[in-house]
Amino acid sequence: MADFARLNLSDRALEAVSKLGFTQPTPVQEKAIPKAIQGSDIVACAQTGSGKTLAFALPLMDTLEPSSNPQEGPRLLILTPTRELAQQIEGVCRTIAECLDRRVCCVVGGVDPAGQVHALQAGADVLIGTPGRIIDLHESGSLSLTSVGKLVLDEADRMLDMGFFPQVQQIIGACPQKRQTLLFSATIDGKAARHFKRFMSHPVLIDQNPGHLPASRVRQFAVEVDHRCKPQLLKALLAQQRRQQTIIFVRTKRRADSLLEHLYSWGYKAACIHSGRSQAQRRSALDDFAMHKVNPIVATDVLARGIDLEGIGLVVNYDIPLQADDYIHRVGRTGRAGAAGCAFTFICPENKRELAQIENLIGHQIERYHVQGFASQESDRAIAKRATRRNAKNDPELAAALREYEAHLKKSERRRQARKKRKENPSTAKAATSRHKEKPDSPQAKRTSARTARSQKRFKR
Ligand code: ADP
Ligand code: MG
Repeated sequence: MADFARLNLSDRALEAVSKLGFTQPTPVQEKAIPKAIQGSDIVACAQTGSGKTLAFALPLMDTLEPSSNPQEGPRLLILTPTRELAQQIEGVCRTIAECLDRRVCCVVGGVDPAGQVHALQAGADVLIGTPGRIIDLHESGSLSLTSVGKLVLDEADRMLDMGFFPQVQQIIGACPQKRQTLLFSATIDGKAARHFKRFMSHPVLIDQNPGHLPASRVRQFAVEVDHRCKPQLLKALLAQQRRQQTIIFVRTKRRADSLLEHLYSWGYKAACIHSGRSQAQRRSALDDFAMHKVNPIVATDVLARGIDLEGIGLVVNYDIPLQADDYIHRVGRTGRAGAAGCAFTFICPENKRELAQIENLIGHQIERYHVQGFASQESDRAIAKRATRRNAKNDPELAAALREYEAHLKKSERRRQARKKRKENPSTAKAATSRHKEKPDSPQAKRTSARTARSQKRFKR
């Protein structure tokens, strides 16, 4: 405990640390905790899984002044971009609160607000929440923000980007101007922080991740694939990486649902999380995944940031993230707190630009990988066949070529069978083949070989 003890924490806060089972502060905790205790505004950038939650929650909860009025609104407000992350932080805060005697409350969308209103009326020192619900409760008069003396934006770069910014601005506007403000993320830099200077006062910059690198023990691979073959590739990859706790990231809700169907059809007990699911469905999917009742879990970017699930060994970017920063967060769901992990990103020819942006951000080329058991030539042939069938509807020449090609496939299959038979029973098979042998120079044989060559040539196009 010696190291935590050097960080100016109270004895009760140190008790909370030992309750959490931690002995050594992580680098971001070592830097941020004393500064937060001093009351400084902080912009902290540290790798995914490096213990940022404790780095802000512990010192801020430790230094909360005792409340003069139990009905007063929260004095520490922690904003997060997703409901699951808010609930996760609530869990950490509750453990700390047991030692520090603070009242913790969490408000997120997707659930009946009545219980949250009731909890707020009972009094909360620490409030964790998502912006939408906080604004609703504030506007309906159930939540006062006038006592917020400490404000944290976790995943700050996301909270301050275009989608969330108006809501966050409204919340900050309702908080007192004189307050301590902390921004935390794995992907925020001094430049972004300067942009938000007006919300802060002389912030201390703690940059433990200047290159915006993913967690260091995550092995990263890129797998090149045509987008039509992604399901087969995933099937082969999951078979190869058997039994790993896996998160598969996709771009949209629809794609998540459709991939879930594929996983069911391959016999996986899978689950999925996206914003189209009810909060109860999202919660139970995450709980079942944490308890190893379901695996893999398919998710959109709602699960990309902050979520700390033990033992995730594999992240698959089934769809490449459109923003390079999101790559770091997605990949950061594995390799947490010093554990090892693997991340595979499927790359289609049309994803070249996104890949270049990611490689530019992380500063190196992602190693290319070939998945064993994934017969890419087979899939190429399937694609060529499907494409030709579609085009053949409008092009009689292609239709003829397709027929020839299919006949050719049938013929090769017959030949393969005959070879197999010959191997099994050499004497009878020899007699049978010699009877049907075509004279190589006959006009019939010449016509057949010319036709086959023509059809193969068309398919190569
Ligand atoms: P981040 O927000 O940086 O992504 P989290 O705060 O979610 O990371 O913490 C990641 C994991 O590290 C959690 O499981 C947490 O319990 C663990 N952790 C946090 N601080 C320590 C520490 N000092 N020693 C060991 N593990 C820690
Ligand atoms: Mg975090």
